[in-house]
Amino acid sequence: GGEAAATAQHLFVVDSPNVEYTEDTIKTKYSYRTTAVTKNPDGKYVAVPKETLYDFKVDRKIPKTGVMLVGLGGNNGTTVTAGLLANRRGLVWDTKEGKRAANYYGSVIMGSTTKLGTDSKTGADINIPFRDLLPMVHPNDLVVGGWDISGMNLAEAMDRAKVLEPSLKSLVRKEMAAIKPLPSIYYPDFIAANQEDRADNLIPGSKASMAHVEQIRKDIQDFKSANGLDKVIVQWTANTERFADILEGVNDTADNLLKSIEAGHEEVAPSTVFAVACILEKVPFINGSPQNTFVPGAIQLAEKHDAFIGGDDFKSGQTKMKSALVDFLISAGIKLTSIASYNHLGNNDGMNLSSQRQFRSKEISKSNVVDDMVAANTVLYKEGEHPDHTVVIKYMPAVGDDKRALDEYYAEIFMGGHQTISLFNVCEDSLLASPLIIDLVLVAEMMTRIQWKAHGTESADEKYGNFHSVLSILSYMLKAPLTPQGTPVINALAKQRAALTNIFRACVGLEPENDMTLEHKLF
Ligand code: NAD
Repeated sequence: GGEAAATAQHLFVVDSPNVEYTEDTIKTKYSYRTTAVTKNPDGKYVAVPKETLYDFKVDRKIPKTGVMLVGLGGNNGTTVTAGLLANRRGLVWDTKEGKRAANYYGSVIMGSTTKLGTDSKTGADINIPFRDLLPMVHPNDLVVGGWDISGMNLAEAMDRAKVLEPSLKSLVRKEMAAIKPLPSIYYPDFIAANQEDRADNLIPGSKASMAHVEQIRKDIQDFKSANGLDKVIVQWTANTERFADILEGVNDTADNLLKSIEAGHEEVAPSTVFAVACILEKVPFINGSPQNTFVPGAIQLAEKHDAFIGGDDFKSGQTKMKSALVDFLISAGIKLTSIASYNHLGNNDGMNLSSQRQFRSKEISKSNVVDDMVAANTVLYKEGEHPDHTVVIKYMPAVGDDKRALDEYYAEIFMGGHQTISLFNVCEDSLLASPLIIDLVLVAEMMTRIQWKAHGTESADEKYGNFHSVLSILSYMLKAPLTPQGTPVINALAKQRAALTNIFRACVGLEPENDMTLEHKLF
């Protein structure tokens, strides 16, 4: 690889003494302004403005990048692969509603814009595509591969998925048929028994082993060299597994986890074996399903190897609405008292989730998504007080991939009154998840090219370091965001997007977008 790497042509440059462009890098000196608060014995607070200086360095060379999906033959795997092919070729196809063209709707990176600043003459907002903030990989250039326990080629697998229009499928059928998932690891205890029929493409062995770790590492290396890639990102979009028990001596530390894999311990999940292989290979690994792939030992291993991990569980439909709506209600001072969430879906994910232990993983991942917003509002909620929150998921084959999410939000308003909001949300599941898979790849890849150091330390390049191994910047796309140990989890959707935007802005030396628009108020 390497030859394909190109230095990005930027849509804008930042003209500032704190920003320096070189052939290969953008270097910035950035002052991060926060507020440090202390509490006095009398219960009052003292807030002190604080400034921390950082140096950021962005590698401008766009690498040739591949994505390997675990669960490539599933609904998400086939949909995202066909979607990328269709975009790359600029396909247009017939539907009963007329012609439709390939797009990246639903991808925050590819489909949304962000305010760069205000026009120096007219004062109007100048908005640019999000993807132009930093020199990012274009999804049309991604090479896709991966593993599945089902050996179907992707043309047949996309038929099985029942997601895409026949007219579109016929246009990508030939290329899809040429892609056959690599054999994968299958430990039947971790996914529903009803998945057994499709498990016909297996690496031998039904419990964790170092041979499995080595095979996965070799698969990644082979994929990289066969396609001349500079970088690979791996994502788990395979079935939801049951939770693994966290056991002392088994998966609590990096060393114990490696020993347990070697010993074939039954509490090591396939997703954790994939994570370990990727960490050792220093390939970013993102978990799109709800299970606890990142047991403490896996997180420690990632930190030890300075490898990137992110998770858990794509946030596509119901939860995305929830993390926006609850943010609105509680920020508006309305006391949400209960959320009842019902789902029914008829795809293979739904069938897998009809099994209790796998449903439990989803239930946990869907349950904590309002905690930070509730805890932050000490006016509405006493310490420990929490709205009732119930999540139900039922398998209903007839609705296929068009998941129904029904939510009732019940809230207390002024003077004992009530507000009840009922939502009926048809989430075309894989069409919502696929752009998230793309965003996760693009942002994770970008994070491998951003480095930082505390300003004023040695000026030598080698003093720059990576962001923390746990990529909490991916939170916008994930239902139960994994954060570095001891750091808060942010679920509020607007805050997650602001973090993504403002970190990217900082990397090119721009202030956070603060929405004060004083220039339109003070004149
Ligand atoms: P799917 O069942 O259609 O696809 C999963 C694929 O994984 C199947 O092809 C299966 O054969 C394969 N698989 C199972 N175990 C494997 C293993 N050990 N190694 C390799 N492949 C394996 O499901 P989907 O609709 O594509 O969803 C995938 C995952 O994403 C599910 O866990 C789901 O809960 C999660 N998720 C999906 C959405 C969404 O689609 N909107 C949202 C959040 C999370």
